[in-house]
Amino acid sequence: MVGYRCEIVNTATGEARTYESDRFDESTPFWWRDGNYACDCNRKTTWLRLADEYPEDCTDEEDEALCPCGHGSFRVAELVLMDGRRIPIDRPV
Ligand SMILES: [Zn+2]
Repeated sequence: MVGYRCEIVNTATGEARTYESDRFDESTPFWWRDGNYACDCNRKTTWLRLADEYPEDCTDEEDEALCPCGHGSFRVAELVLMDGRRIPIDRPV
């Protein structure tokens, strides 16, 4: 199993944080393009967690207020696999 990393960019501030995983498989691009991790809510949760900024004890209501659903607030341009392959995710703006 090959690993990968990607930059999650907060488009309001331009701040990029690097997400890494040791599990890339056939469904991973779909997961970022059209699955759970296409949505800003999960991207923001992940982005916050990368800096230990996500309040892990928050309620569902607090989570929804902090990390609303949507598209365009957190961008992922591509996945970079550890074997050198690059997989485009979000369309260029
Ligand atoms: Zn969502």
